[in-house]
Amino acid sequence: MPAGMLILTFICYVPLPGAGNTACSLIFAPMQILDGKVAAASIKEKLKAAVETRRSEGRKIPHLAVIIVGNDGASETYVASKVKTSGEIGFGSTLIRLPAAVSEAELLNQINTWNKDADIDGILVQLPLPSHISEAKVIETISPEKDVDGFHPVSAGKLVQGLETFIPATPYGIMLMLEHFGVETTGKHAVVIGRSNIVGRPMSILLSSQHAYGNCTVTVCHSKTANLASYTSQADIIVAALGKPGFLKGDMVKEGAVVIDVGITRVPDATKKRGFAIRGDVDFDEVAPKASFITPVPGGVGLMTIGALMMNTLKACERKD
Ligand code: NAP
Repeated sequence: MPAGMLILTFICYVPLPGAGNTACSLIFAPMQILDGKVAAASIKEKLKAAVETRRSEGRKIPHLAVIIVGNDGASETYVASKVKTSGEIGFGSTLIRLPAAVSEAELLNQINTWNKDADIDGILVQLPLPSHISEAKVIETISPEKDVDGFHPVSAGKLVQGLETFIPATPYGIMLMLEHFGVETTGKHAVVIGRSNIVGRPMSILLSSQHAYGNCTVTVCHSKTANLASYTSQADIIVAALGKPGFLKGDMVKEGAVVIDVGITRVPDATKKRGFAIRGDVDFDEVAPKASFITPVPGGVGLMTIGALMMNTLKACERKD
């Protein structure tokens, strides 16, 4: 279905006034696609304008430094988009490629060099890393001042306490998307499926936090949740972030729910040139007719993540002003 398309969704029959119980009228509610392309383009324009202003005022231009270890296909794609987007909005960027066999010490050494480099505002080490390298150690070595991925325990702690911090890019991107489309969240029941440090957990904190696109009552579901559908079927907002393609079915969702699909899984598809298709955690065909707002995959949350990362990089640079 084309992104941005408005669909009229059948909601319910309502008796016409004075017509007894026999005559009914149909009430239609519009279902809106939360188009990541549209929201991400708007963020990109804001970032470009911010860079132009900084340039004209003679202030520092944001600079993002990225490390990729090994040559995982998906990681290569993500890193290439991050570097490309940096260039498009006028940020400086540095990319270092290290072989899969690089030692942990060598990687930490590179991070420490960048921690001390005043020109570098944000440092990102693309995950996952080879198994001989501790991801926790890598994340903790990045200076919290340059932690634009928002994975450092200092950033996570500040998020929990409602303090100004770097928010992990995917949940931040979702918040920016809710804001862009004016999706109301206050007083709503949000169900987040997934409790990872990079998506589910920070998402649940953000949605329950006290701000314009928070103020939800949040339920967090995970692989040990009993009768998960009993929670999702009560939810006004569902964020599916579990990495199981097509997991959320139509009968697990109530009419009018806002559905955010974070999942990105490559599934074999012989009809595609590259041999795989990208699938989300939501069974779009079943869920979309019941939803009030829904994100497509691809073309939804994934596109917001890079914009959110760039917002964090700008913030890191502005902190030095
Ligand atoms: P993760 O670290 O593997 O976490 C998955 C979470 O889902 C865990 O909390 C797990 O529960 C839960 N879960 C797994 N199976 C479940 C089930 N059957 N029922 C209920 N909960 C279940 O994954 P992640 O890094 O959070 O990523 C989740 C998905 O988002 C993946 O598809 C990933 O590719 C995608 N993603 C997309 C973006 C983007 O930009 N769009 C960014 C990051 C990730 P336990 O804690 O009990 O194990």
